[in-house]
Amino acid sequence: MHAIRVSRTGDPSVLEYVSVDRPRPGKGEALVRIEAIGVNYIDVYHRTGLYKLPLPFTPGQEAAGVVEEVGPEVEGLKGGDRVGYTMTPGSYAEHAVVPAWKLVPLPPALETRLAAALLLQGMTAHYLVTSVYPLKPGDRVLVHAAAGGVGGLLVQMAKQRGARVFGTASTPKLDLVRDLGADHVIDYTAAPEFDAEVLRLTGGAGVNVVYDSVGRTTFDRSLEALSVRGYLALFGQSSGPVPPLEPSRLAVKGNFLTRPSLAHYAQTREELLWRAREVFEAAQSGALRVRIDREIPLREAAEAHRLLESRKTTGKLLLVP
Ligand code: NDP
Repeated sequence: MHAIRVSRTGDPSVLEYVSVDRPRPGKGEALVRIEAIGVNYIDVYHRTGLYKLPLPFTPGQEAAGVVEEVGPEVEGLKGGDRVGYTMTPGSYAEHAVVPAWKLVPLPPALETRLAAALLLQGMTAHYLVTSVYPLKPGDRVLVHAAAGGVGGLLVQMAKQRGARVFGTASTPKLDLVRDLGADHVIDYTAAPEFDAEVLRLTGGAGVNVVYDSVGRTTFDRSLEALSVRGYLALFGQSSGPVPPLEPSRLAVKGNFLTRPSLAHYAQTREELLWRAREVFEAAQSGALRVRIDREIPLREAAEAHRLLESRKTTGKLLLVP
């Protein structure tokens, strides 16, 4: 089979398209023939070495396809089942072995590509609005990179929960953020700074929660934009890691800071299936619009990473084997 292999960390050119042996499923695992692969920012962190994986490795954390073979001690799953998964490395490939408990059955009417586009980013937006800071009607919410994969879904989910949404993006993407339903759209690459805008628009009160996936360039101002007792959910670092923080900075307004990952909020099969079901149902009913930016052949994975890192995408990038 073909797969992308990283033998040394570095720029997108380290993503090599190679022939490798097809893996066999062990106890509690299944072999999936992959039809669509979700590209996520975490794949960039793995490729550059910001998040360490033992070398060599096949990147990718998300895909959808068809079960080809199940290993011993797997129940409720058989060859031919359509499934999607995330939180298992190695999806930039034609086949992958995945722990059976992480495989989510796809509803018959759900397109495979939509499932691959939605699982990781959709469940991330879902845990942020339901569990990290459970949104209530009237909450004021700031979403960074609001035209991005997770960001675009967050804006929509926050609106559905009755929140007042402030969305930031770079200049060419502002109309899209408005179109997704944000009440206030802020260009965080231009003056005035986004925290000053948020404070002006809220009469100085600030927002109850900031969902910040950008990190280094936004973190300080995200704190400034919070209300008294507001929550900062730092869940990514597309612009780079945030430097160490002196805890007393949170004392100014009694703020809360958390640094969550999807794995913390999909710890059991029950929790995983609950989030996946809610996200799939929202997409199928039309309540959640999923924007697929483009589909790129697997062998051109390097081009997908160049697009994502150069901020040229809105919504989801897919690789197709
Ligand atoms: P996005 O589609 O959001 O792409 C990243 C976006 O970040 C860019 O399009 C860009 O939007 C913005 N950005 C701001 N500064 C930079 C910069 N210096 N370099 C590159 N991009 C920048 O990607 P994803 O939806 O895949 O992921 C978004 C974030 O969420 C990532 O940080 C990711 O790690 C995190 N994440 C965290 C999870 C968790 O559980 N903790 C799970 C899933 C994702 P613009 O041009 O508008 O600035």
